[in-house]
Amino acid sequence: MVSSQSYLSTRGGSSGFSFEDTVLKGLASDGGLFIPESIPSLPADWQTAWSTASFEELAFNIFSLYISPSEIPPADLRSLISKSYSTFRAPDITPLVTLDGAQRLHLLELFHGPTFAFKDVALQFVGNLFEYFLQRRNAGKEDGEKESLTVVGATSGDTGSAAIYGLRGKENISVFILHPKGKISPIQEAQMTSVLDGNVHNLAVVGTFDNCQDIVKELFADADFNARHKLGAVNSINWARILAQIVYYFHSYFALAKRYPSEHTNPRFVVPTGNFGDVLAGYFAKRMGLPMEKLVVATNENDILNRFWNSGTYEIHAVSGKDAEGGIVADGVKAHEFGVKETLSPAMDILVSSNFERLLWYLAFEKETKGEGVEERQKEAGERVKAMMADLKGKRGFSVTKAMLNLARMDFDSERVSDEQTVETIKKIYTGSETKYVLDPHSSVGVTAALRNLDAEYSNHQICLSTAHPAKFSHAVDLALNGIEGYNFEDVLPDQFKGLAVAEKRVEYVEKAEKELVKEVIERLLEGEKSS
Ligand SMILES: *Cc1c(COP(=O)(O)O)cnc(C)c1O
Repeated sequence: MVSSQSYLSTRGGSSGFSFEDTVLKGLASDGGLFIPESIPSLPADWQTAWSTASFEELAFNIFSLYISPSEIPPADLRSLISKSYSTFRAPDITPLVTLDGAQRLHLLELFHGPTFAFKDVALQFVGNLFEYFLQRRNAGKEDGEKESLTVVGATSGDTGSAAIYGLRGKENISVFILHPKGKISPIQEAQMTSVLDGNVHNLAVVGTFDNCQDIVKELFADADFNARHKLGAVNSINWARILAQIVYYFHSYFALAKRYPSEHTNPRFVVPTGNFGDVLAGYFAKRMGLPMEKLVVATNENDILNRFWNSGTYEIHAVSGKDAEGGIVADGVKAHEFGVKETLSPAMDILVSSNFERLLWYLAFEKETKGEGVEERQKEAGERVKAMMADLKGKRGFSVTKAMLNLARMDFDSERVSDEQTVETIKKIYTGSETKYVLDPHSSVGVTAALRNLDAEYSNHQICLSTAHPAKFSHAVDLALNGIEGYNFEDVLPDQFKGLAVAEKRVEYVEKAEKELVKEVIERLLEGEKSS
């Protein structure tokens, strides 16, 4: 067991961060992302010792390799984990469903948390971590001296609701989520605005998602405002989100091994990808020693990652479109100056994948550093990443060396899936599976990639990560299935969604997409929280 673990920035500027630093800061001050100083390896007996562990026990075993016990004592870590996953509806937390035994096609269902999307797996834990660290810092302090955190984010759907459900009711934390008024799906809007906890604030901004995102960036860059309210972020670059997602790769591996006891399973994981957070967790699992043949990056028509794996060039293509989720654009490049293509899998509509920087660091570290000691090589890798990110900003792209690309291809394959194919696969799986399984469009992107592997005679097990419940994305599901005998959308709708339309809601309108206006609203609502 690793007894101490610390973190460094992918841009080489700094190292020696604690886990608490990475969680509360989110981003390093040199603009880089946090990664562990070393990737822990598994205990020698993990295959047997962990094989019957519950999801929560696996989470504990894995988190313990990345978080020093001096930072979070084991008993506290256990209770944080148990609290985080008590909100899930499935006893298994992330159940593995076999779609087609003969074809060895499996689905890892990640949508049994409060908002019915995979982001809950991470954000339920992150919310509890925030609260835990703040409580500890505030112990014994008078009310007026207590540290608080103001989480601000923009959303076009999934991220916002998962963040709100992760942070609702948490002490000393206020949450402000901006969404473009009238431009997110009714279910997602109702999901967010029906949360009535006093610390949760939905701001419906007249404008586009990109306007919201730009305002959030401006707020973080506003030193005065930031210092006054201690802004926090929950976007997908937070290291704790990646960490939490490693668990289900292990969990599904054991579920598969149990189902096929006479085989040495070596599955391929197929991951519908946007900001590269979900699949990056798989990369850490692989590097730790979890047997897997490969990770498949499945993109929609916003295909910057697929183009990278084909060519070794990572390049922003300006396409006309609007309103991207995630949508982290290179520093300083405003989202609305580019726009992404709007697809049927909106949570993957991104221009640039923010977590890809972490993989780049490892590729550079392995292939492009010459220093004697590890520390020296870490610095060199950071310099390389910094240069690549500068080119992304200045020249809108960069290429990696042949050696780096080859290394990336050893661990990953990639596939690009069109909207037409997404719909086709939803139909194919519904009509072709015994259970009449209904895929959501994001999961369908992954399954489409897996079906291509089958066509290419790949015969090993494939685990496709299923990232959302189909009822959240009724538009695409209806496109695929309306008119097919036996299909009725009402049958897909979970009970939890049925009362949403008439539930009590609270939302604050912002008449214009302007930073100053949003600042006023935030400060007024914060005052209101204090006096209530
Ligand atoms: C966020 C999201 C994704 C993409 O995950 P990344 O970690 O950004 O690659 C896929 N599907 C759904 C439903 C999501 O909400």
